Amino acid sequence: MITIRIDGKDVETAPGKSVLEAALDLRIYIPHLCHDPDLKPAGHCRLCIVEIEGRGVVASCQARVEAGMRIQTESPLLSRTRKTTLELLLAEHAGDCLRCSKVGRCKLQEAASYIGLDSTTLPAPIAPLKPCDGSNPFFNRDPNRCVLCGICVRTCQEIQGAHAIDFFSSGAFTRIGTAGGLPITASACESCGECVVRCPTGALAEKESLIPSAEVRTTCTYCGVGCGLFLGVRGNSVVSARGDRSSPVNRGQLCVKGRYGFSFINSPERLKTPLIRKDGLLKPASWDEALDTIADKFKQYRGDQFGAISSSRATNEENYLMQKFARAVMGTNNVDNCARLCHAPTVSGLSKAFGTGGGTNPLEDLEHTECILVVGSNTTEAHPVAGAKIRRAAMRAEGRAKLIVIDPREISLCGAADLWLQLRPGTDVALLQGISKLILDEGLADEKFLSSRCEGLEDFRAALQDFDLESVERITGVPKEKIRAAARMYASSNSAVTVYSLGITEHSHGTDNVLAIANLAMLTGNVGRNYAGVMPMRGQNNVQGACDMGCIPGSFPGSQSVQKPDVREKFERAWKTSLPVAPGITILEMLEAASQRKLKALYIMGMDVAFSVADTQRTQAALRSAEFIVVQDIFLTGTAQFADVVLPAASFAEKCGTFTNLERRVQMVRKAIEPVGESRPDWLIICELARRMNAHGFDYADSSEIMTELASLAPPFAGLSFERLESGGIQWPCSDSTHPGTSRLHVYGFNTPSRKGRFSALTFRPPAESPDQEFPFLLTTGRSLYHFHLAMTSQVRGLMELYPEEFAWLHPDDARTLGIKDADYVKVSSRRGQLTVRAKLAPTMARGSVFMTFHFYDKPTNVLTNQALDPVSKTPEFKVTAVKLEKAITTD
Ligand code: SF4
Repeated sequence: MITIRIDGKDVETAPGKSVLEAALDLRIYIPHLCHDPDLKPAGHCRLCIVEIEGRGVVASCQARVEAGMRIQTESPLLSRTRKTTLELLLAEHAGDCLRCSKVGRCKLQEAASYIGLDSTTLPAPIAPLKPCDGSNPFFNRDPNRCVLCGICVRTCQEIQGAHAIDFFSSGAFTRIGTAGGLPITASACESCGECVVRCPTGALAEKESLIPSAEVRTTCTYCGVGCGLFLGVRGNSVVSARGDRSSPVNRGQLCVKGRYGFSFINSPERLKTPLIRKDGLLKPASWDEALDTIADKFKQYRGDQFGAISSSRATNEENYLMQKFARAVMGTNNVDNCARLCHAPTVSGLSKAFGTGGGTNPLEDLEHTECILVVGSNTTEAHPVAGAKIRRAAMRAEGRAKLIVIDPREISLCGAADLWLQLRPGTDVALLQGISKLILDEGLADEKFLSSRCEGLEDFRAALQDFDLESVERITGVPKEKIRAAARMYASSNSAVTVYSLGITEHSHGTDNVLAIANLAMLTGNVGRNYAGVMPMRGQNNVQGACDMGCIPGSFPGSQSVQKPDVREKFERAWKTSLPVAPGITILEMLEAASQRKLKALYIMGMDVAFSVADTQRTQAALRSAEFIVVQDIFLTGTAQFADVVLPAASFAEKCGTFTNLERRVQMVRKAIEPVGESRPDWLIICELARRMNAHGFDYADSSEIMTELASLAPPFAGLSFERLESGGIQWPCSDSTHPGTSRLHVYGFNTPSRKGRFSALTFRPPAESPDQEFPFLLTTGRSLYHFHLAMTSQVRGLMELYPEEFAWLHPDDARTLGIKDADYVKVSSRRGQLTVRAKLAPTMARGSVFMTFHFYDKPTNVLTNQALDPVSKTPEFKVTAVKLEKAITTD
């Protein structure tokens, strides 16, 4: 600490701070407009001037404190100068404060009132009003209220990394806008709203802003990043969301869904009562009637006649209970969750290589590592706050991280990348093994790490002989020079993090893809260290937790095998019942068993199976074959249409529990409002159902007691409790109540029996389908920034405005060949089905490929996709489907 003198008082402050920050810390107000603690100082507004002895009048945001510095924050000279500056600003500012939604929260008003000017009584500017931009569904841009402080520009560049807006022109003509003066929605804007919350005036203001009467701190329910946020509440409605700056995950940042995507909670479409199918129709029923019907029916099925599909959207405690219900009440290990459709290859691959199926490092390592390899992850769309971290790291002025992107499409991150390797879909193993071979051949491997920490190197090295540069170029389509450059860039960095997602896992060789990533990390010693590791971007908010809680056919909570007698006995003692020995079956296998009428009853909690699984027609035929289906969800989803009984569940905002994010961080979810209608939290419903089936051990007073039971049975979570989690998330493993959690895995050894990382000898297998004369295009599927679960995001008007329908994205050259123009209808057909959607032409697409999301009930893309499975994880190959395209006249 150093001592400075402010306004005649000696005070201590930290070196390196600006004079403005030091003063604000001491609660000394200095008028300012362009200061934001998260942004680099700009000195635009000149209101924060102070007098510093020996230096005269300076902008306090630009001056750093020095020991012995003498600062005056008020003087006649400062008052006069600030008044003149502010008058000049106000002369160009629309004097319509009483009509502005930021009134009372406006920093310009605050400064004017401090300086002694009344912003509401000054004459309106003489210049004609400039046109406002209301194109974004969530916020307006009003240049008449803009003071050119530049906070929005710096936020978009420094925090979001989107560069959607900038200063244009100069002098009196200076303005902030988009390139080409386009509406904001036609720019690179991602609607994150970060600039809106930071704008000091009403120049950027939300269209609908209700001031909440209370705020509740919780965790976002959309993606696996797990951002901390505050839900604003009025009455029994959620009316706002703002980022939690104390969260180590997002430091206050949110994406468009996390900030504006919660109107689904109070949607009139929410399920509010149980429904029972009578005469072919789902009709409202009482809870007693619905639960008794289910209990009576479930009692008729035992063991493998029953299957439970749990939810990656539900809390850990609810997932724990779902697998307990399947095992202890129904006597089967047939329990699975939607990870089967996305990251099951992560669990199988990373468990085999490292001994633990979770991401190795915290998200913050993205901000410190020297190199980021992004493979098969459109991070800025699917995990936006993590994507922004990557973009920031690659674009920062000093010490920027090198960025390598491997993706068939030119995704947004390619704009910030040093290298983009555009591979053919489904050829990741060949490319990653080719990079590994080059690293070994060029002597760039970490020999010390290999000899002390790994095993299986010789078999791996022998398998690499098939991956010479020529072969890899031929298979992948990536030029040799780029493969060589990527190998050198990755291996020569002191630290490197590999980020991957569904582009790696949703393949018929998804586990091999993950193993190839693990091989590369071990080869270069990029695991078990700070800023070096492997980070799978888990999809849904709690997909990590659903697997951790044992909602998988072969494991109890904590990845404890159901086949180990001592483990099984432990759970039998705790649950006071005998438990099944044989592992259960996966979602796809359950559907197959239902088709064969071997599996008769399905209990589906919070998963839209009918539209999420590949090959929709086959999936729905299987659902029709089941004798009895219970669906528990917040909306009447597509799957609920197949149910015999539908139970209304409470949303994440209406219950307490925990989610585990993609960095293994277990975080609190807190109740903000009462459950809407008659809906109930999933955990309460499962308990009530179990009791009606005369099961014991489902009498929990609240969800914290479920966590206590989990901690007593699953060693990685032994130190977790709601009491501890109240003060912040904890990354598992956490072995006891004093253990701080584990931010980085494998620092002292891998979790394998030998404590060594295991190399895998891999061979290249092509995708199950390749383009041919009949189906000459390759379809890949993925997420849009604006949607997640259609049942939820389709209820948010603004998100639907920003991405209203399914499109087939294709390269303009391909479109020209087919006579298709932008927005024309195009029929997309595969061996399994067909859909007609509008075409979107984008030069970012690779020629010969098509991209579609899977977010729309009326255009279910999975009618096209293939159920070809990865043999290890049983995950379908959503990412490669051979299709043909034809111009269509209508949507039919
Ligand atoms: Fe929510 Fe994911 Fe967006 Fe964060 S990045 S606000 S967790 S959707």
